[in-house]
Amino acid sequence: MGDIVFQNTLGGKNQVFVPLHPGQARMYTCGPTVYDFAHIGNFRTFVFQDVLRRFLRSRGFEVIQVTNFTDVDDRIIAKAAEAKLDIREYTDKYIDAFLADQRVLGIRKPEYTVRATDHIEDMVQLIERLTAKGFTYVSDGSIYFRISQFPDYGKLTHVDTAGIKAGARVDVDRYDKADARDFALWKAPKPGEFFWKTRIGPGRPGWHIECSAMAMKYLGETIDIHSGGVDLAFPHHENEIAQSEAATGKPFVRYWLHAEHLLVDSQKMSKSLGNFYTLRDLLEKGNKPSTIRFLLASVPYRRQLNFTQEGLQQAASSVERLRNFTIRLNTSKFPEGTSTVSESAERASKDFERALEDDLNTAQALAAVFDLIREVNVAVDHGEFQQGDVAPVRKTLESFDAIFAVLQDDDDEKLRSIGMEAGAKAPSNEQIEELVTARQVARKTRDFAKADRIRQDLANQGIILEDSKDGIVRWKRK
Ligand code: AMP
Ligand code: ZN
Repeated sequence: MGDIVFQNTLGGKNQVFVPLHPGQARMYTCGPTVYDFAHIGNFRTFVFQDVLRRFLRSRGFEVIQVTNFTDVDDRIIAKAAEAKLDIREYTDKYIDAFLADQRVLGIRKPEYTVRATDHIEDMVQLIERLTAKGFTYVSDGSIYFRISQFPDYGKLTHVDTAGIKAGARVDVDRYDKADARDFALWKAPKPGEFFWKTRIGPGRPGWHIECSAMAMKYLGETIDIHSGGVDLAFPHHENEIAQSEAATGKPFVRYWLHAEHLLVDSQKMSKSLGNFYTLRDLLEKGNKPSTIRFLLASVPYRRQLNFTQEGLQQAASSVERLRNFTIRLNTSKFPEGTSTVSESAERASKDFERALEDDLNTAQALAAVFDLIREVNVAVDHGEFQQGDVAPVRKTLESFDAIFAVLQDDDDEKLRSIGMEAGAKAPSNEQIEELVTARQVARKTRDFAKADRIRQDLANQGIILEDSKDGIVRWKRK
């Protein structure tokens, strides 16, 4: 097997993955801010991180992964106050929901899943270390990180700090590059606001210090991989680097991996556009957990993922195909012997691995598996497939499923585990209309393969299309 190569956001280059401690991969993945249910965009990133950990595991690395719940930040404080709950009570509900969603999507539990509010003392210690080294100052009871003191500030996202006036501050947790300034490590409480009483004064931590403190506590001062969605690179990860490296004088992270965003119908997902989905929204519409996992995992993480109804249909038929194929392989009797398909299976296994070695190119890895399935199906139909071919083909499928985890037909069980009715619901009229329109567009642009695929997907769900001469498409349920 070859080297694993990652595109490192720090430096922007492709680099061979060499962990600091041989045989071990220590990684930190920024977890959800639990002020609401996680949405499907969040899960794009969390599924990518799961693919990453599964791949490293499959290569024999001992993975030590830490992920956090950001259970204190500006939004949580505001929402908890609105709900008249303390922040722990307020966030418990979303943490439970997240853990359940994670199971439904086949996301393996990291070795450590930790809450920010359980690590206030670690954060206080880190801030004290920074103060001892002269990286902080106090203003109105809040403690700020002085970015002019850290010459490497901006090395991850190339933010220009030249024009920033010393002492210019930003108090909110999330802000744009245009607002690059000294950021709050510790925030003094506003009147009536919840706070911790600590050696560094009353208040609560800024968002960024949380991750630095938790990452270093469990993984050491230099960690191998740190990941999140692209929106976290600035300011969150830039600030994590500044705080951690200023405190320790050592490199904080060796490989930074950032997932591009998920878009819905080519638009940013937002509640106001009405295209905002939680996992449960999609399950309630009748989508299976395996469909959603497959779709999220199928697009390489460095590429934007355009989430569409049509993409869901395609993912559902891909999973169906894979499962049917596995059944065919496991239940049919083939003549004794070995054919050239065995060599194709070996090749497919290698191509699958090679694709993942290439910065987790999941699309390419899938292509290798589907090419093999096509070839095997033809061979079986022609009576050329032989019993000795079963093992190498099964091996390819096992490698595939160690990463994609969709072969087991456990969707109903997973749905029931979160109290949802099992069994796919029939698509709504609205969903059908959407697909009919997508097919019309495909035909107009002469993409007949796509048009046929949509017709077939609909037929699989019992929806029959009738094309009339006047160009109007009618549909009916079987
Ligand atoms: P948050 O709860 O906002 O801190 O986000 C949790 C994770 O989801 C982070 O890694 C974000 O970068 C990621 N994320 C947020 N929105 C999207 C999106 N639309 N697509 C992909 N990842 C996202
Ligand atoms: Zn973080």
